[in-house]
Amino acid sequence: MKCRKCTKHAVINMRQHKLALCSFHFLEWIKNQTQKTIERYKMFTPDQKILVAVSGGKDSLALWDVLQQLGYQTGGLYIHLGIQGVGDYSQESQRLTEKFAKEKNLPLHIYNVQQETGSPIEEIAFYNKRGKGKPCAVCGLVKRHTINEIANQFDYDVLVTGHNLDDEVAVLFGNTLNWEVDFLRRQSPVLKAKKGLLPKAKPFCRFYERETAAYALLAGIEYIEEECPFSVGSTSIQQKEILNLLEHQRPGMKLAFYIKFLKNKKSIFQNLDEDGDTNDILYVCPTCGQSTQSEGNCSYCNTIKRTQLKKNK
Ligand code: SF4
Ligand SMILES: [Zn+2]
Ligand SMILES: [Zn+2]
Repeated sequence: MKCRKCTKHAVINMRQHKLALCSFHFLEWIKNQTQKTIERYKMFTPDQKILVAVSGGKDSLALWDVLQQLGYQTGGLYIHLGIQGVGDYSQESQRLTEKFAKEKNLPLHIYNVQQETGSPIEEIAFYNKRGKGKPCAVCGLVKRHTINEIANQFDYDVLVTGHNLDDEVAVLFGNTLNWEVDFLRRQSPVLKAKKGLLPKAKPFCRFYERETAAYALLAGIEYIEEECPFSVGSTSIQQKEILNLLEHQRPGMKLAFYIKFLKNKKSIFQNLDEDGDTNDILYVCPTCGQSTQSEGNCSYCNTIKRTQLKKNK
């Protein structure tokens, strides 16, 4: 198969776009499409300072690479969760993230959960009896809190994450199956700043996972191939498999499902602003100063306090 833009051999065929491209034109296409997504959803502008949440995986490192090539001012944040698994997952992903930042000469912040709170993620989850054996709920809570803390400390304007279309569609599908109305109304490629919370954006939200993987490979980015050991057998991975079967039968189905949801969201849900963002009332946590959905200490502060009390008993 030939590249649509030149006569060279195509390295990827994107059936949903009826587009086959060679390596050079594919890398260029990813950069152009990322810029279009940033503008389409009014994510951020070149004068803003952007914090990229990096895990050492293909999506976040590819996103950081594309943003710096597009000329945005970026810094990375790697959160060491203290997860071991085969080959010491956290240590290896930190090593690859540091290697990337050094090669590209980009600023990187490292936050070690155990050093900062006294416990790694699994221990915090254990003392809070959350997640039925998996630390994912606590992990999400700690990551959200840490990202805001570092962003405020170093004066970043926007947070970006490497969520791709497959991630977004799996979340959308799961929340629809369970009619999680509150989560559905909050799902968006961009969330505005709210009381102490940084605006958030997902510039890769319209790329399929195979496209971000192809970008990382062709751009020569070394990333951690293993997934977090706690993601094995997760509902979202099962849902991704179902969605892949549907996509195989109907190329473009995932993209259409997501785009049509975003288009119709405002007419389905109440209390959304003109851009489809929520107008929820937020309070300020008296301990850490971050936003919380109810009065009093936020969930993060309560969780860490409970861990320290139980651990020192
Ligand atoms: S799969 Fe791993 S990294 Fe993801 S939320 Fe769960 S514990 Fe955290
Ligand atoms: Zn070409
Ligand atoms: Zn707090």
